[in-house]
Amino acid sequence: MSPSEAQQFLKENEVKYILAQFVDIHGSAKTKSVPAEHYNTVVTDGAGFAGFAIWGMGMTPNVDADYMAVGDASTLSLVPWQPGYARIACDGHTHGKPHEYDTRVVLKKQLEQITARGWTFFTGMEPEFSLLRKVEGKILPADPGDTLSKPCYDYKGLSRARAFLERLSESLRAVGIDVYQIDHEDANGQFEINYTFTDALTSCDHYTFFKMGAAEIAAELGLICSFMPKPFSNRPGNGLHMHMSIGDGKRNLFEDKSDKNGLALSKLAYHWAAGLLKHAPALAALCCPTVNSYKRLVVGRSLTGATWAPAYICYGGNNRSGMIRSPGGRLELRLPDASCNAYLATAAVIAAGMDGVNNELDPGAPNNDNLYDYSQAQLDAAGIRVLPQNLHEALVALEKDEVIRAALGPVVDEFLRLKHMEWVEYMRHVSDWEVSSYLEFF
Ligand code: GLU
Ligand code: MG
Repeated sequence: MSPSEAQQFLKENEVKYILAQFVDIHGSAKTKSVPAEHYNTVVTDGAGFAGFAIWGMGMTPNVDADYMAVGDASTLSLVPWQPGYARIACDGHTHGKPHEYDTRVVLKKQLEQITARGWTFFTGMEPEFSLLRKVEGKILPADPGDTLSKPCYDYKGLSRARAFLERLSESLRAVGIDVYQIDHEDANGQFEINYTFTDALTSCDHYTFFKMGAAEIAAELGLICSFMPKPFSNRPGNGLHMHMSIGDGKRNLFEDKSDKNGLALSKLAYHWAAGLLKHAPALAALCCPTVNSYKRLVVGRSLTGATWAPAYICYGGNNRSGMIRSPGGRLELRLPDASCNAYLATAAVIAAGMDGVNNELDPGAPNNDNLYDYSQAQLDAAGIRVLPQNLHEALVALEKDEVIRAALGPVVDEFLRLKHMEWVEYMRHVSDWEVSSYLEFF
């Protein structure tokens, strides 16, 4: 949008304030409200922030210049749940240059190696989330009747959440995020809203906007919309599956109908998948970045019979028990969970995928077995590794992964520093489970 088109858009829609928005290292939206009259400042100098006040920007309180959030004019949209407001996604700048700790900037840099070949990387993100309420300090599904032991796709469950689901979907559709399916997922209080795939940067902007809307609409209804990976220990967790393909403007380069494996995948797609499998343990740290994430990925079962956790480092056709599924002609990475910073996770996926492409890596044969039924001996025989089973393991893998670290730059050091602290803090905590298991046992 040119400055004059933007001015007209703001005027026609009676916008009073623009939210200059970026994300911190955790993917949380940060904003300043800027009166619409000052739109031009946001897309030129940017809105100024004290960088030290933002998680993961690698800035100090005493030396560094301000962190300037410079608006990307192509992202200007209304904020339907907040009349009179528009939102613009921003890139962080310091000293007039893109700030290398800003994760949108990090993703854009990774995308350059794709665009340099005349390609576009497309992703479709599938957010799962929990719609909850707090009753006397207890967290419960928003709908008291949502108690089935296998609640996936249940009509009543979906119908009774419609006040929230409709408002969120309509808000997204109003800004061009093309919602096409909404369902009740396999945990009580868990839902998924699907919208059409698009270029990877826009997908991340959409996911951020999705979380902003979900939080505010839920709060207005007296509810909590949570993207915590595993809110209930005995129920499936909240994934953020990432469907991936590469286009050259004419066709889908991940598709080849003559594929002998019957997955309609091209050589390029197989190399990409092999890169993801090779770097899976390090990717886990960035795609599953919390202590809680690993309670989703843990190998085992939930009350519904499956966790759906993609804990096994392998790929297959329509196999939901492995890390990568191919529904045909594209790949679905099932690893990321809803707590990841989508920009950082996508950047890491590109670094890993392109390592596979550049080195023509081979992912081996697809595995279409139900891996939840495999014994350890079967996993060993098939050479299938299990993903890191806790945050510490994943951080150690990321620390050792030179390819991902070199591609993403200093933001990884910052990520590791913060996440090691999170791990230590978690380990210092003695849980109720430990007390009840051990206190009188020994
Ligand atoms: N909730 C599952 C996960 O955490 C995914 C279920 C599905 O396939 O939609 O990944
Ligand atoms: Mg799902």
